[in-house]
Amino acid sequence: MRGWWQEISGLVLPVACGGCGSPRTALCERCAAVLLDVRARRVRPAPEPAGLPVVYAAAVYEDAVRAVLLAHKERGALGLAGVLGQALAGAVREAAGVPRDGPLLLVPVPSARRAVRARGHDAARRIALAAAGELRRTGTDARVAAVLRQRRAVADQSGLSARQRLANLSGALEVTAGGDRLLEGGRVVLVDDLMTTGASLVEAARAVSGPGRMAGGAGAQGIPGFARRSSVAAVVASTPASFEINRN
Ligand SMILES: [Zn+2]
Repeated sequence: MRGWWQEISGLVLPVACGGCGSPRTALCERCAAVLLDVRARRVRPAPEPAGLPVVYAAAVYEDAVRAVLLAHKERGALGLAGVLGQALAGAVREAAGVPRDGPLLLVPVPSARRAVRARGHDAARRIALAAAGELRRTGTDARVAAVLRQRRAVADQSGLSARQRLANLSGALEVTAGGDRLLEGGRVVLVDDLMTTGASLVEAARAVSGPGRMAGGAGAQGIPGFARRSSVAAVVASTPASFEINRN
């Protein structure tokens, strides 16, 4: 219920820029430029956790970008999903290139169910839908395949160290019944609004890797049709430090 009310109230109540607070606009030109007038880049958290796919990010998680993502995720500024989706689409393009066989399958990293209930919406999924729409408009076959779900409760990630986050999330996600079929014949791109330690993307990559899921399991023994499914990842924003790794 919260969702539709906020969507409607955004149309009739005075708004302020989600990035900087400028009046009478949901997003001012300057803040939009920080998200859109950039080329997505490869990002790597330090330390880089084992099993992290190649990740591209559109923007640095600071200042206006941070404010816009929080306004969308926590304060229900749903009108920002469009521009966040555009930014994510740029990162998806860099991560996946031009798909040669089959569509790009954008797989959102699911939030904890409790968080989704409290916020009234699933931010990553909403941005993924906007990104897929943007990709299709610009001629790339893309769709959202929301096939991941949490198989068990996890602790709130904030306040946990990188190592604690990996342990907290290990084995936490699974592909829904029928989800493997949805992933057939496309290129999997894991998508999220934000990367911090990379723990969520490690777990998501493990979960989508396919029927030969276990390292050294059926996939490794070369049974046809049971190859592990590889993935790349794209996020709207990532920590400043994760961009700096590219400088060498
Ligand atoms: Zn602004």
